[in-house]
Amino acid sequence: MHSHHSHSGDYCAHGADPLNSMIDRVVQLGFHTYCLTEHIPRLESKFIYPEELELGDTSDEIITSLETSFKNFLSHAREIKARYAATPEVRTRFIIGTEIESCDMDHIKYAKRVMTENSGILQFCVGSVHHVNGIPIDFDQEQWHNSLHSLNDNFRLFLLSYFHSQYEMLTNVKPLVVGHFDLFKLFLPSGMLVDPKTGLCDKEAGVPIASLDVINQWPDVYDAVVRNLQFIDSYGGTIEINTSALRKGLEEPYPGKAVCDLVKKHCGSRFVLSDDAHGVAQVGVCYGKVKKYIVDVLQLKYLYYLEEGVPPQKVPSVRKLPISQFVNDPFWANI
Ligand SMILES: [Zn+2]
Ligand SMILES: [Zn+2]
Repeated sequence: MHSHHSHSGDYCAHGADPLNSMIDRVVQLGFHTYCLTEHIPRLESKFIYPEELELGDTSDEIITSLETSFKNFLSHAREIKARYAATPEVRTRFIIGTEIESCDMDHIKYAKRVMTENSGILQFCVGSVHHVNGIPIDFDQEQWHNSLHSLNDNFRLFLLSYFHSQYEMLTNVKPLVVGHFDLFKLFLPSGMLVDPKTGLCDKEAGVPIASLDVINQWPDVYDAVVRNLQFIDSYGGTIEINTSALRKGLEEPYPGKAVCDLVKKHCGSRFVLSDDAHGVAQVGVCYGKVKKYIVDVLQLKYLYYLEEGVPPQKVPSVRKLPISQFVNDPFWANI
């Protein structure tokens, strides 16, 4: 079993438990591959989350603290990796990565620099989008609405902006794993009324957004998704199936079936699995549910995962696992 995306309370303001406790759980569950991927620090005060305000008295102090924390993460992750590389009786192999956000172009450029400067440690990145029009979309409902409002309350424009930021990140970073592809749905209110033609969210008129397949509803949105997937395919990237949506109460993981069908068609059906855990209780969370999704709903023939490159090649290679092996993995006996 694998997870390609994780955080911990040591290095992420909304993480719940120390990294060492999470690692104990990972080993206990018998993961085959587990990737440690804390965020690249954000460098501009406007992108500091409210939960990070206690890290310092001034924005400079907070930013310095985020940078120091990331450096500490790198050495801690290296120590964990070395510890288990020397412990053959433990099945789990750890890969060190980072999650890149796409706050804006300056951040993307900075993230690339951090990747290069730490190329001896960082082996890959998860490429994500957490902001639309510079406003966080996965923090709370209010910010999500602020973001939609900044795009004239037009959900089609909101999606186009999301997928445009994703494309900018993809073309600049070429992440081996693309994170929570349809994160925009986290705070999408199912009863929100939308004009099915224009995408305008008028409080008085329109149809409930939940009655639409938003990926296939508007040709320009559909084209943007296909463009992004074809680009990911061009460099051999993978799309993560991320269970954090399930633990947050959504019906489908990221991405939902509409996107997954397009991944099958345009991105070689290269799915990897992630728990995006932020604490011990979230390690392997909802994996039973996601197994059904993978086997019964998506009916995948293979699941993909990253494997450590042979030295000196640090970049992991993308491997595939037949679904028959996935469903018979010894991991399932432990959850
Ligand atoms: Zn993320
Ligand atoms: Zn994350």
